[in-house]
Amino acid sequence: MQVFKFGGTSVGSIENIEHVADICLEQRPDVVVVSAMSGETDRLIQLATLIYPSFRTPEYDLIVTSGETIVAGLLSLALKKRGINSCPMTGAQAGIITTDKFSEATIQRFEGKAILDSIQKGILPVITGFQGATENHKITSLGRGGSDTSAVAIAAAIKADKCVIYTDVNGVYTTDPRICSEAKIIRKLDSSVMLEMASQGSKVLHLRSVFLASKWKVPLFIKNTFSDDPGTEIIQNQSHSIEQVDNMNQHQIFEEEIVTGISGYDQDVLFTAKTNLTLPQFFKKLSDNQINIDVIHHQINLDLPQYLSFTVNSSDFVRTQDYLKTLVGDDFTFQDNIAKVSIIGLGVRNHSGVAARMFNKLDSLNIPIILVTTSEINISCIVPKSDMRSAIVALHEEFISP
Ligand code: ADP
Ligand code: ASP
Ligand code: MG
Repeated sequence: MQVFKFGGTSVGSIENIEHVADICLEQRPDVVVVSAMSGETDRLIQLATLIYPSFRTPEYDLIVTSGETIVAGLLSLALKKRGINSCPMTGAQAGIITTDKFSEATIQRFEGKAILDSIQKGILPVITGFQGATENHKITSLGRGGSDTSAVAIAAAIKADKCVIYTDVNGVYTTDPRICSEAKIIRKLDSSVMLEMASQGSKVLHLRSVFLASKWKVPLFIKNTFSDDPGTEIIQNQSHSIEQVDNMNQHQIFEEEIVTGISGYDQDVLFTAKTNLTLPQFFKKLSDNQINIDVIHHQINLDLPQYLSFTVNSSDFVRTQDYLKTLVGDDFTFQDNIAKVSIIGLGVRNHSGVAARMFNKLDSLNIPIILVTTSEINISCIVPKSDMRSAIVALHEEFISP
């Protein structure tokens, strides 16, 4: 069984929807998942926020997921025109039950019965990505880029043999090919590296889709809707140690293993607050308010008050600002002109000097490093937003295509 998902550009016009229908006629997937036409979700968000700035309302989710509903209907019509027996389905009709965390709902329960029944009857379900519903039948959205997550969840629920994410580039590249012309396609990519790339801003796959694919062992592929390129395969639980030992004899490949990809993300805001609360107290209060924190900087200081810096997504900006006012009054500042650039690869943890090379490279371009965070397989630097693109190109040159 195969699940195909088509992203925003792939269904961005009637012509493209007809093209997607041709692909389905030729490839015969068992389930199709669609995004809204490109730009449509942005437009809907703007309409909603013109009236009311909060993202956490049922109205917001109802409005912003409507782009997917339209495309599911249009594609189903295009399929019918080609003699394919198809049926459009909302996320709710497909059985995706989520939390009520509007604008970022997570899937709680998912039975593939409705989808499997449809397949059994020979009817191709065309399902709206990005959408679910609460137990109380309120429509929810899965967060920006969430239709990848819908597709992988569906593939997991029906135990599909393959989930193919069709998009507007040939696959996953060493960095965003729209930022760096030297970016190279990666044919096979370990899911842990893909997870890190997605979490650091490579929007080619929604982070939660990579996590779900890894958890439920869904074979995941990324391909281009507009070309026959074989694309990228995400490998689940590959034994890297064996591969790396093999590769040690091939110096060039081994070197390439150190850093697999470079990501950039410029939708975060950096807050710094002066507070009398302890670290656990402070962050517990933010998480109780459903504010997701990314990078945290805390100078160890046993005295109070102390200064805490952290980044949040710009969609949480207003809520964080409002909440900090109640927590620390005027004792906070924010910077919204920042970006995070990250180098990612299984080799990062095994090689000394990688961080130093990264800092040197940024320094040689006079790019100031505002904050640094590291994980087992990633080093991220917060830099000024205006330097993000040049930092990505420079780091790609340093680590991937010297
Ligand atoms: P879709 O609408 O098909 O879901 P997205 O816009 O969400 O497409 O994701 C595809 C885009 O991701 C590409 O057009 C590309 O600019 C961007 N991108 C960022 N990082 C990468 C990367 N490492 N490899 C490929 N594409 C990337
Ligand atoms: N249409 C939604 C968005 O733009 C979901 C998606 O495309 O994955 O975020
Ligand atoms: Mg996407």
